Amino acid sequence: MPTSSECIFCKIVAGDIPCQKVYEDEHVIAFHDLYPVAPSHVLVIPKKHVSTLMDFSEADTEQMGSILRGAAQVAKKLGLDEDGFRVVNNMGEYGGQTVYHVHFHVLGGRQLTWPPG
Ligand code: 5GP
Repeated sequence: MPTSSECIFCKIVAGDIPCQKVYEDEHVIAFHDLYPVAPSHVLVIPKKHVSTLMDFSEADTEQMGSILRGAAQVAKKLGLDEDGFRVVNNMGEYGGQTVYHVHFHVLGGRQLTWPPG
């Protein structure tokens, strides 16, 4: 599994940094965000190091599918599917990305507003 030694999320995947795991399969891991902005705030990430959404290749199609399937599994596990929830990817500077290991936020547990700031 390609990793980056400087990447905090690769360290979580490796088990070197603890996390509150919600879901895991062959390709992805999902864990609670350290600084939640909603009552439920989980990050779904590929186990393989990919920096941003733009860096997925055609060969990563299965991983990309697993991320969305994982997000749905997380929502079901946390009981967010009845009232609804949001899945968000922040890409690059203008998107507000701060950790450069691609991740999808699963947010729920309250009424979310639109558009985001
Ligand atoms: P971004 O701003 O890149 O879209 O999201 C990065 C997210 O990672 C932020 O919501 C931030 O709170 C979360 N985060 C940063 N470091 C850690 C960490 O060490 N553990 C966990 N669980 N979440 C983290």
